[in-house]
Amino acid sequence: MRALVLICLSITLTSAFSQSYLKRWKTFDVQKYSFSIAVNDSTNSINGRAEIDVLFKKKSDVFMLDLKSVDTDDKGMFVTHVTVDAVTDVVWSHKNDLLVIQTNGVRKGDRHKYTISYFGVPADGLIIGNNMHGNRAFFGDNWPNRAHHWFPCIDHSSDKALVDWTIRAPNHYDVVANGKFIDRTVTGDHTYTHWSSTVPLAPKVMVAGIADFAVQESGKAGTVPVSTWVYQQDRDNGFAQYSIGPEVLSYFIGKIGEYPYEKLANVQSKTRFGGMENAGNIFYYEESTDPLRDVEGLFAHEIAHQWFGNSVTEIDWPHVWLSEGFATYLTDLYFEDKYGKARLKERMTNERESVIAFSKKRMVPVIDDATTDYMQLLNANSYQKGAWILHMLRREVGDDIFFKGIQTYYMTYRDSNASSDDLRQVFETLSGKNLKSFFKQWLYIPGHPRLKHTFKNDSGRVIIEIQQIQKKAFKFPLDIKLVFEGGKSEVRKLNISKKKGSFKIATSHPVIRIELDPDVRVLWEPVFN
Ligand SMILES: [Zn+2]
Repeated sequence: MRALVLICLSITLTSAFSQSYLKRWKTFDVQKYSFSIAVNDSTNSINGRAEIDVLFKKKSDVFMLDLKSVDTDDKGMFVTHVTVDAVTDVVWSHKNDLLVIQTNGVRKGDRHKYTISYFGVPADGLIIGNNMHGNRAFFGDNWPNRAHHWFPCIDHSSDKALVDWTIRAPNHYDVVANGKFIDRTVTGDHTYTHWSSTVPLAPKVMVAGIADFAVQESGKAGTVPVSTWVYQQDRDNGFAQYSIGPEVLSYFIGKIGEYPYEKLANVQSKTRFGGMENAGNIFYYEESTDPLRDVEGLFAHEIAHQWFGNSVTEIDWPHVWLSEGFATYLTDLYFEDKYGKARLKERMTNERESVIAFSKKRMVPVIDDATTDYMQLLNANSYQKGAWILHMLRREVGDDIFFKGIQTYYMTYRDSNASSDDLRQVFETLSGKNLKSFFKQWLYIPGHPRLKHTFKNDSGRVIIEIQQIQKKAFKFPLDIKLVFEGGKSEVRKLNISKKKGSFKIATSHPVIRIELDPDVRVLWEPVFN
């Protein structure tokens, strides 16, 4: 996603989040969620029924789901019934945001269907309220783990599942959700709208949007239908603003490979983010339909997420750069291909400044497993430094292997999860290079090279001294532009690896000026005294 403004929210952590999801995932693997959710115009209470098809990977006495309990403010979900494979005599408890269902001893390989009936006012996760025109609307907004505020699930990206949505809403609403549109049935003054995903998704991107929409088929990218869903009052501006959708989607299909989902709906919404990459139906901020707003970069970022973040999903939160760094750099590539190299250089310069500024506030590595407030991970390390790591990896392995590596990584982990090591191994296999130290220094060591430099002419050569003043020396290639008397120049590559290095280069004319990294290919910071 992209932040609309800098969000500094503190999330209340509960016991549900202190346990290891990966351990849970090794026991339960949800195959499919089928949600039937009813909304209305008179209260903010929703009625839900969730059918959850689970494969047990180990024997277990319990099946556990995240579902927000009712709080002191009366918000939260109240469970009324639980059945297992249509049997009603089930022992369960719901407290501290966990629904714990006794299994009566399931074994490895068993598969069961749990049905949970519940109701309540969501405290979060489903945003209910008036849109900017004063019309009531409902938008799922789950990142990072706010899905369990409105439906029971294993609220972690490591457990992907199919999802099927049936939304009952008053007739005046249109409903968009993940997957393929199945049907819409009118019953009196209510409508049932059914969408179904044929591809497993992470709960963070499983959503529905319910509003008085104007809908337009914007075109196709190959065979993929692209549609626009905007508020009726923003119909003309919204259709024009969002018409870039098919072009951006076509670009990424060409660059990365087959689009992972059935359709792409671009949706004006009340998401708290600038954009939220929900699978196959991206939610954008409300004012994105304003013709004075430039949404091209936002569309590129969210559409790139469909491959990275959604289809190939980080195995756990500390690897979120695999989502945000990829979306950021793929947007940079989109601008490079559409507007030229100079645009890429300009964007990488700006992104480098963001990384440097962030390092002055918080000196943490990209893989940050100490942070448990996941909103704090939406920072320049995950986005801009992640993009910079890919930019430097591109130089390390060369353009051909880099783009082949991006495609191979997608095809290998499509509809699944990956870690930073999985990415490294793809590039090591393709390039034949050992990339351990590259990944280690940029992902696990906080900060970046901070460089002091001097040069002097010395009888037919120039002597350049480069000093790394940060704590630990980084290893990287650094281009140096030598500008000679008379105005000619040339670029030489230096291999930097020590805290202090001295390089002697033979020259035919005296050097009057040197420029470090003229093509913006290294994440570094100049230090002048
Ligand atoms: Zn993003």
